[in-house]
Amino acid sequence: MKIGFIGLGNMGAPMAANLAKAHHDVTGFDTAGTTADGVTQSATAEAVAEGADVVITMLPNGAILRSVADQVIPAMKPGAVLLDCSTVDVDSARAVADAAQAAGLLALDAPVSGGIGGAQAGTLTFMVGGADAAFAIANPLFDIMGQKAVHCGPSGNGQAAKICNNMILGATMIVTCEAFALADKLSLDRQKMFDVVSTSSGYSWSMNAYCPAPGIGPQSPADNDYKPGFAAELMLKDLGLAMEAAKSADADTPIGQMAQALYQQFVEEEDGRGRDFSAMLPRFEKRGHT
Ligand code: NAD
Repeated sequence: MKIGFIGLGNMGAPMAANLAKAHHDVTGFDTAGTTADGVTQSATAEAVAEGADVVITMLPNGAILRSVADQVIPAMKPGAVLLDCSTVDVDSARAVADAAQAAGLLALDAPVSGGIGGAQAGTLTFMVGGADAAFAIANPLFDIMGQKAVHCGPSGNGQAAKICNNMILGATMIVTCEAFALADKLSLDRQKMFDVVSTSSGYSWSMNAYCPAPGIGPQSPADNDYKPGFAAELMLKDLGLAMEAAKSADADTPIGQMAQALYQQFVEEEDGRGRDFSAMLPRFEKRGHT
């Protein structure tokens, strides 16, 4: 397939390289001038889009996605697929899909889970919104860049799945961290707490797969001085998107709101910026009852 790839950052570069390695003809563009192994560099977004069967975007936010879509949609050939893998707000995802469809294109929103490691290893999970015909064309590409793609329904539903998942993740990470800090103060050994919770009804991905306590459970950023991993500011971004969606859909999400407020304080007023999102544990260790 002839593929255009726009946004060759931490995630986009390894994803594009994996497609090139699988013998697709990949041309890339990034405003920062970055490129990726096996990818032909192009001078503009429009040039990347011309003649491409699929244009993939991996960009920082919805506003940038909208402006890139305005550039590339007129340059794409009829029936081609605009495949956005960025994490953006549901409204931007739906607006871009509508614009693409109005121009005779197919569109998918397909945010990912799995982080930079998953992008490099080709083991991402894709949560996909859009028409069946578009999903069928993109599915072989998901197989190369990832290990699983779930078709979640029409446009915007991929982003909806992503923000619901990450709202649960943010909240469970916070409560796992506060439970460890409470256990410390109750003189409960951390390893004992892990042994019980990881096999009891309090278990979760945050506890079992990404334990925030150093030296306990599987290897995680806690064992590497809380270097990300998944940075606290990215969690804050995703919680912001979840709260934006909750407001626009009139949904009551009190715990999500609290998680957003805590990550905001952690990133903007404390020492959370540049640290993994599980560094909430040392934060709680330093605090008393409020
Ligand atoms: P990044 O900042 O490393 O990459 C974004 C790239 O987009 C940059 O290289 C930037 O120069 C480029 N860019 C910005 N504006 C552009 C434009 N107008 N035209 C072309 N290129 C432009 O970010 P990332 O970590 O690769 O994340 C990309 C997306 O993936 C984000 O939406 C993020 O939320 C999501 N995501 C990231 C992770 C992660 O662990 N990093 C995990 C899951 C999802």
